[in-house]
Amino acid sequence: MNKINWNFENTYSGLSNSFKQNINPTPVKDPELVLLNKQLESKLNLDFSKSSNKDLSELFSGNSLPDGSNSIAQAYAGHQFGHFTMLGDGRAVLIGEHLSKNNQRYDIQFKGSGKTAFSRNGDGRAALGPMLREYIISEAMNSLRIPTTRSLAVVKTGEEVIRETSLPGAILTRVASSHIRVGTFQYIAARQKKDELKTLLNYSIERHYPEIKNSNNQALDLLNLLIDRQCNLVVNWMRVGFVHGVMNTDNMTISGETIDYGPCAFLDLYDPKTVFSSIDQTGRYAYCNQPVITKWNLARFAECLIPLIGKNKEEAVKVASEAINTFEKKYEDRWINMMRNKLGLIGLDSKDKSLILDLLTWMHEKKADYTNTFCHLMNLHPNKDELYNDKYFLNWRKRWEERLSKNDSSSKKSIEIMKNNNPVVIPRNHKVEEALSAAGQNDLKPINKILEILNKPYDEQKEIKDYQSPSKSGEKYQTFCGT
Ligand code: AMP
Ligand code: MG
Repeated sequence: MNKINWNFENTYSGLSNSFKQNINPTPVKDPELVLLNKQLESKLNLDFSKSSNKDLSELFSGNSLPDGSNSIAQAYAGHQFGHFTMLGDGRAVLIGEHLSKNNQRYDIQFKGSGKTAFSRNGDGRAALGPMLREYIISEAMNSLRIPTTRSLAVVKTGEEVIRETSLPGAILTRVASSHIRVGTFQYIAARQKKDELKTLLNYSIERHYPEIKNSNNQALDLLNLLIDRQCNLVVNWMRVGFVHGVMNTDNMTISGETIDYGPCAFLDLYDPKTVFSSIDQTGRYAYCNQPVITKWNLARFAECLIPLIGKNKEEAVKVASEAINTFEKKYEDRWINMMRNKLGLIGLDSKDKSLILDLLTWMHEKKADYTNTFCHLMNLHPNKDELYNDKYFLNWRKRWEERLSKNDSSSKKSIEIMKNNNPVVIPRNHKVEEALSAAGQNDLKPINKILEILNKPYDEQKEIKDYQSPSKSGEKYQTFCGT
């Protein structure tokens, strides 16, 4: 095990016990490595090549902790579907912070590693399907160039977990620039100890935003930076049709990385009200609601920071509210620019917004596939589709082409922008399910294949039609929280 060149330097575990519980993963019976992420291994400057499969299975199950690790469960709270709850790592431990050669710091976390002080009634474990699903989608998001936590490995534990049925247990090794969440601030703020809150603020700034270390109002600056990051993040989600599905405040990071791939899924046909999660009955976390909820979550973050923003509470609330209220305009501007990129529009034209909205309205009415409509506009549609001979669409297309002709750059530049912003392949729900189901039967070929394809989502690839088409069954796809 010592053959692996971990470079741990643990800082979060050095915080007081208000922030965490010191706890090791609970050993598992018969660990077996299922997936290992070679690209991420290399990015982290790790070298697993001298370790046997058995060693790696022992390592990524938590049965054998590497030297230099210091395992903790992190405390946090969160608004879940609007209701405040005390949470924490109930089935995960942070084994340490690894520094890569360029001194980038990465949390190495095992998810599904056994009970902790925060497990409440849970078993502390995770099932294979959802851990593989998180691996596929988080890695796809990374390849889509969207900030996200990553997945380094999945092991089967050799134990069963009881959900609605008995399922194979698994542990995911999650890698993140940190696991500090809006909910972490909520947890500490709820304890009403200003020094602890200040500790968390300082820690977060040191780790993620050192540029504001010397500012006059660090708390306000941190709020503004997070508004900025989360705004960019949700614009990116909208760009590729990603529906997170459970945007509770504990699932929103301070780093601006996408976290917690539970009931998430990607749009196929364009419907702004799309909800995949079976438990999201009111559509709180529907596709079109994601910017609204981002702002709501940011407001909860702002509330935590009030005591640090100013001594005069009224004044602090006023400036925090002003900051939060910049969100809509920021979002609107960035969203339009993102859509301009999807359509290859360069520069600004007062009619751009209606051009964009008219396309989306048409897509919604005709149940057009979100990803493939933009592929069609790039002449890269996997199938010939009668839909695009529609009179209204052809008319719209004429307007679009006229607008393109006004670009003060070459059409080559337009196409380049479109190709950089419109994926030709996304994790199609039925293909993900197919891969998970095969993996459940010990056939890893489909999962390795889909991972390979999703590794280059902006590239034209041979023989991937099947991965580009929406499900033929036309059945509404539903995701479950039984993770
Ligand atoms: P999640 O839905 O994964 O964001 O988790 C929400 C909260 O429930 C977190 O505090 C988790 O640690 C906790 N949790 C989820 N599943 C389990 C489990 N099987 N055992 C213990 N805690 C869990
Ligand atoms: Mg969570």
